[in-house]
Amino acid sequence: MPTLFKRSREIRNYVRSHRCEKGHAVGFVPTMGYLHEGHRKLIRESKIQNDLTIVSIYVNPLQFGEGEDYERYPRDLQRDIGICEEEGVDAVFAPTDEEMYPERPLVSIEIKGLTDVLEGKLRPGHFNGVCNVVLKLFNIIQPDRAYFGEKDYQQLKVVERLVKDLKIPVEVVPVATVRDGEGLALSSRNTYLSPEERESALSLYRSFLLAERLLRDGNRDANFLKEAIRDFILAHPHVRKVDYVDIRDEKLNPVQEVKEGDRILLAVWVGDTRLIDNWRVGDAKV
Ligand code: AMP
Repeated sequence: MPTLFKRSREIRNYVRSHRCEKGHAVGFVPTMGYLHEGHRKLIRESKIQNDLTIVSIYVNPLQFGEGEDYERYPRDLQRDIGICEEEGVDAVFAPTDEEMYPERPLVSIEIKGLTDVLEGKLRPGHFNGVCNVVLKLFNIIQPDRAYFGEKDYQQLKVVERLVKDLKIPVEVVPVATVRDGEGLALSSRNTYLSPEERESALSLYRSFLLAERLLRDGNRDANFLKEAIRDFILAHPHVRKVDYVDIRDEKLNPVQEVKEGDRILLAVWVGDTRLIDNWRVGDAKV
């Protein structure tokens, strides 16, 4: 059974005693809970590379905008602790809002050209909330390594840059996206989807395969590919809106001519559920 901590001071002391007295390497997996196979993969990577693995479970209000799904975001701490136990997690940090934000935070982190594009443009303040909580969790846990999924590719790039610019002594380890048997990227938000909506949500993954086929046939123009992806997804029932389809290089700079290693990134509303996904060009041989 993992040890459950609610207080920063207590988990900090726990981690310190392992690091300092036993010389243990500490791996950290930050999550918002309602754990699934994607989270399990992050945990397994951490277990391989470290002596101690800590999972945080905290639905961070600061990264949700007004009218977003903060209230209805799925939560089940007991179920999550059970999954952590199955995976051999050493400790779970599940703080209260009071513990994380005793006062309204006044620090605001922005990374020019990274936090203000794509998700950041559609969800102003989102990455400020992400940076705030990630930096705070790093300061509380003080891990050697932290694990982030490519599922949230822009978040991964934001955290990598935060760590680099501020020389935070944490190694950020990216973990490839886990998909179900039909290609749907696993997400806690998939629980919102009805069976019919889930069927339409498969269009996200299938649009990546379409793009790979178009690329194979010599179509390298980013605008052409973006339009093709958008049209394909919008042709599915229950798809209400495409917030964006973009193709960028691996550092998220815009591209005109698409090449292997670039990223297709998109955000799509299926019914009342906003899904994000991304794809590394060249990852499927079609
Ligand atoms: P979340 O609980 O959704 O905030 O996610 C916590 C961490 O798990 C983030 O680093 C996510 O990128 C990662 N993650 C979520 N879904 C997946 C997935 N399907 N595959 C890999 N990593 C994921």
